[in-house]
Amino acid sequence: QAKAAGRNNVSFFDPAMQARVSARAALEADMRRALVNDEFVLYYQPLMNMDGTMAGTEALVRWKHPQRGLVSPAEFIPVAEDSNLILPLGRWVMHEACRQLAQWANDKRTAKLAMAVNVSAQQFHRPDFVEQVLEVLAATGARADKLRLEMTESLLLKDIEGTVEKMQRLRAAGITFALDDFGTGYSSLSYLHRLPLDQLKIDRSFIWAAVKEDSGAAIVRIIVALGKALNMSVVAEGVETLEQLNFVIAEGCQSYQGYLFSKPLPEPELLTLIAGL
Ligand code: C2E
Ligand code: MG
Ligand code: MG
Ligand code: MG
Repeated sequence: QAKAAGRNNVSFFDPAMQARVSARAALEADMRRALVNDEFVLYYQPLMNMDGTMAGTEALVRWKHPQRGLVSPAEFIPVAEDSNLILPLGRWVMHEACRQLAQWANDKRTAKLAMAVNVSAQQFHRPDFVEQVLEVLAATGARADKLRLEMTESLLLKDIEGTVEKMQRLRAAGITFALDDFGTGYSSLSYLHRLPLDQLKIDRSFIWAAVKEDSGAAIVRIIVALGKALNMSVVAEGVETLEQLNFVIAEGCQSYQGYLFSKPLPEPELLTLIAGL
């Protein structure tokens, strides 16, 4: 430690850094406690077809903290990813999303919905990831062909051979794949065609830029063309205005998500929304 500190010319006892380290450690410890106490919940954000029907939902985790209220995944997922906590949390999310999916299958108003689940790199690259997902499907009775796994570019680029092999095994069971936040990662067009992806999700930063700048509109146009060429459906993320929706419809996106239609909702509120459609 002293050696490292000397080399980087920062003291290990830098009080600001020390404070950050202990805040992180405290958050980690608190998350461990929260997992035991069952404080995590899933919210569901609708994925809408352009004809106004609901294609499915994306499961998004929240932390119902006893003192802090609802904590955003933007705060705790990165911490969970840096520790090994993403493994039990990711397993819990997969199980809860599939349990919900199996329950929806029993009601004609929700039976057609697909469920998208976000998967972290650490989780996916575990040697037993495929078995874990198949076990959850078997245990919950959820249909594999209604489950879609959302992954990011950086996850997919790491160990491409192993990644393709795992995706193919999951695909053989009927599971489909989306590339999340497309355009924000280490985009490498050379790998895209090798991956068995079903869907590209255009990051919301491009949807915002699209109605403001010509360059933003051009990027959306290119991503849609790329998706078509590679036989993937294209989703617009983060659609907040009618102007943005009209734009992505005109450009040929097949579906969208965003606050314009709905924020992520707890399950009872999602059912109320569906009942009103
Ligand atoms: P994501 O997978 O790209 O999810 C979309 C995020 O955009 C969600 O944030 C959603 O609430 C937000 N969003 C949707 N529509 C709009 C809109 O119109 N405007 C704006 N400003 N935002 C919109 P959320 O729920 O805070 O999640 C943030 C990120 O945390 C997710 O990004 C995902 O990367 C991660 N995450 C959430 N749940 C999980 C999980 O269960 N496992 C893993 N590994 N990551 C998760
Ligand atoms: Mg996602
Ligand atoms: Mg996204
Ligand atoms: Mg994201």
